[in-house]
Amino acid sequence: MSSGSLLIGDIVTLDPARPRAQALAIAGGRVLLAGTEAEAREVMPAGAPVQHVPGTVIPGLIDSHLHLQWAGLKLLRIAGETTLAPAQALAVLDSEPFSPPWLDAEPTREQRLAGLRMIQPLMHALGVTAIVDPAVVPAEMDAYTASRRRGELTMSVTAMPHPDMDAGAGSAIAALDAVGVRTGLGDDRLRLGGVKVYFDGVGKGGTALRREPWPGTDSRGWQRLPDGEFHKIAAWCARVGWSLGVHVVGGGGLDIVLDSFGRVDAETSIRDLGFTLIHAYLEPSPENMATAARLGVLVAAQPSIHYCNGTGLVQALGPGAVASNPMRDWLDAGVTVGGGSDGQYFPIDPRLGLWQSRVRIVEGAAEPHAPEQALSAEQALALYTTGAAAVALAADRRGRLAPGFLADWTVLPLDPLTAAPEAVREMWPLQTAVGGRIVHSTQEGLNP
Ligand SMILES: [Zn+2]
Repeated sequence: MSSGSLLIGDIVTLDPARPRAQALAIAGGRVLLAGTEAEAREVMPAGAPVQHVPGTVIPGLIDSHLHLQWAGLKLLRIAGETTLAPAQALAVLDSEPFSPPWLDAEPTREQRLAGLRMIQPLMHALGVTAIVDPAVVPAEMDAYTASRRRGELTMSVTAMPHPDMDAGAGSAIAALDAVGVRTGLGDDRLRLGGVKVYFDGVGKGGTALRREPWPGTDSRGWQRLPDGEFHKIAAWCARVGWSLGVHVVGGGGLDIVLDSFGRVDAETSIRDLGFTLIHAYLEPSPENMATAARLGVLVAAQPSIHYCNGTGLVQALGPGAVASNPMRDWLDAGVTVGGGSDGQYFPIDPRLGLWQSRVRIVEGAAEPHAPEQALSAEQALALYTTGAAAVALAADRRGRLAPGFLADWTVLPLDPLTAAPEAVREMWPLQTAVGGRIVHSTQEGLNP
């Protein structure tokens, strides 16, 4: 890495102390200073390389829920190892429903690595510099580690180990505890996140755990872990220093999970552990939101799921379901919300989320769903920067272009705070950098 460089342009920092800057001084893969050009030049050695960029520079986008290896394997399976332009690769991913290739045969490490080599450039072309992989089994951790060791991992990955809970919390705890590692181990490229467990089902198909039965059935949905088993692993995580992310979609599930979190917190504070409700889009109550805010519990939300499933939820549950994924309410309650895609199950494109969170349009509906839940341009950008950084357990080093933060940025052809949401949905980033290293560039319009 060079000793330092300057980037000059229109910079949206997400740093409340200095929301807008004209220059970044970058050294050692981190931001040294964000300020005026004169201020930046002052802290850099004379002769440091200078890059002038058009458009608007923002902190690199973060997807707080992306099954990166699955997406890579899907691209590999459909396209082989051909090099695709980003728009082509996106079209390929959207061309087929997700069908896991490992139903026939478990992917090899080499296949996983080849998939990562294909999916990372696409995500960088979309402006993404970091992701949370929300359920990493040992073969996936092995592949991330191998990719990291070979120098092929250009994406910053927060990996959430997913222990097998089928034999109960006790054996899952024993497996997690076997090596003694905890959340936070790793480096800025590959780091252990929280433990991932599944508490209920999903909205589509009626398996999310509701407070009332799903209409026309006597089922409230699935509860995949008994209350006591869930509480046992949550309490253990807090005690030993693992964060915990819980797949929980429905209000009935949220009631149980948050009640458990409250009891855990009474013994061991979870405020700084980044415990996270993953999805949490179906009928969260004001009490759920107040409890999450009080405990410092985060929400990982996916506008992509709302876009794809909003119409189906209204068909299943009635007109009230337009209020699904009420991100404005979560934010108003004081909860930190991170944006994500849940790719490869849902469209991986972060532009969809930046747009949908502002317009609340869902597939197959003439009118926006509960437009009062729409986010402002500032809130939508925060969802994929500061909010997602919090869910990635990296709020102190990602999501902002501020002194000490990682030099992760993307250059957009427009200003996302003033451009129409439709323009944000269509834009293509001009350049993306991870830790000060450029991982995507269209060249066109850039003047290094
Ligand atoms: Zn997922």
